[in-house]
Amino acid sequence: MSAEGVKPDTQAIEAAALLSAIVDSSDDAIISKDLSGIITSWNKSAERLFGYTAEEVIGRSVKVLIPRDRLNEEPEILLRLQHGERVDHFETIRQRKDGTLFAISLTISPVKDATGKIVGASKIAHDLTDRRKSEHADQLLGAIVDSSDDAIISKDLSGIITSWNKSAERLFGYTAEEAVGKHVTLLIPPDRLQEEPEILRKLQNGERVDHFETIRQRKDGALLEISLTISPVRDASGKVVGASKIARDITERRRAEEYIRRLNQDLEQFAFSASHDLQEPLRSIKIYGELLSTRYSEKLDQQANEFLGYMCDGASRMETLVRGLLSYVHAIKSDIPADEAVDANEALQNVLEGLAGVISESGATITFDPLPDVHMDHLHLQQLFQNLIANGVKYRSPDQPPMIHISAGTQGASLLFSVKDNGIGIDPEYKERIFGVFKRLHTNDEYPGTGIGLAICQRILDRYHGRIWVESELGKGATFKFTLPR
Ligand code: ADP
Repeated sequence: MSAEGVKPDTQAIEAAALLSAIVDSSDDAIISKDLSGIITSWNKSAERLFGYTAEEVIGRSVKVLIPRDRLNEEPEILLRLQHGERVDHFETIRQRKDGTLFAISLTISPVKDATGKIVGASKIAHDLTDRRKSEHADQLLGAIVDSSDDAIISKDLSGIITSWNKSAERLFGYTAEEAVGKHVTLLIPPDRLQEEPEILRKLQNGERVDHFETIRQRKDGALLEISLTISPVRDASGKVVGASKIARDITERRRAEEYIRRLNQDLEQFAFSASHDLQEPLRSIKIYGELLSTRYSEKLDQQANEFLGYMCDGASRMETLVRGLLSYVHAIKSDIPADEAVDANEALQNVLEGLAGVISESGATITFDPLPDVHMDHLHLQQLFQNLIANGVKYRSPDQPPMIHISAGTQGASLLFSVKDNGIGIDPEYKERIFGVFKRLHTNDEYPGTGIGLAICQRILDRYHGRIWVESELGKGATFKFTLPR
């Protein structure tokens, strides 16, 4: 054999090897078949996609890959191939070995022999499942974005608006046509323009801006109070290429908050002046009532003395109530920073020392578990313990000495304290009512009190975003529980 004769053969072998390597490394299934539809070759991706090994399918009809209701497609394809036509990106459904169906795109070309005669076909099958999934995800996302009550806007890194949903139209008054392509400064009032470079800088560093409350401007010039959450958008390589912005209108919320704040302020002012200003005339009634009964009781008949006694008792009671109201108003005033950690064991100890008299008088047993540190004014914590423990002693059962146990644990992200007693208990029907101002379930003769203690506890816990409630049944003791953020 001559040297010239060897060369083309080697080249042909190399080319064939290269081709088969390409075929094998392709992500698409590459299959060939003869004109009667018998499979003649089968690459690795075909194995992966259809689940059959080459040994299992070579020599069998392509029909094994076609679901029954699609079998009519094959004669049509074969006919076109026999005419030398190519079938391009034909989207259809095929079947795996395990019977599952999947979407594919087929490109089928006729294979000719050396004389140009069509002897078969090569088929490239591209799996569309992922594309279909991502198309579906895109549609879903689009629907969510459009139905959101929040404005959802995206922009590129130079601040140009690239998308604009229905709520953005509603909120800012610009249509998508008017806004897309414009710079976001369109929405920013002049005195807030300095915010944008800072936001862009954060986004470029891949940081997110969370619930940033600011002012933006509508098309008609009206100002809006909004809360912005802005996240960087990355391309496939992870590079930040823009941002998506969710803008929530908080104008109404702000207005409501302001209204409630003012209402609260007025109410506090009213309660303060009412209780404060009431003390003066009350004192006069009390003093002159007492003077009357000490200096003139002999000059008055028995009934007049009785009436006078009621009047003095009434004045004393009113004095107690007014004092209670004042302590309710003052309850959450504090100069001590709430972020200071307070040892709850110490707070409890102080309270127990203060209550030592009533505890020993009633024969109460107080037990407690080790308690955690809490972030609140120690006087507020003491007030909680004081009111709950004093109530545990006061509302004791006539049949047994009071036993009170204080414990602490956690509930989700909060600390949970409980004060459990073995007293008279509370009808569950009233378990919310008792936290109201002046709300009591007993007369002053049965159990003295003002109905302010639990209202104060509620107010203190409101201030620290905690919660208080009672678990009880009549005659079966009561467990007061409260939570505080950790
Ligand atoms: P006060 O004790 O001055 O009446 P509170 O606000 O502390 O005011 O309590 C309101 C009402 O809740 C009480 O009048 C009582 O009826 C009921 N109560 C509170 N603590 C207990 C308890 N540990 N056991 C039974 N009832 C209780």
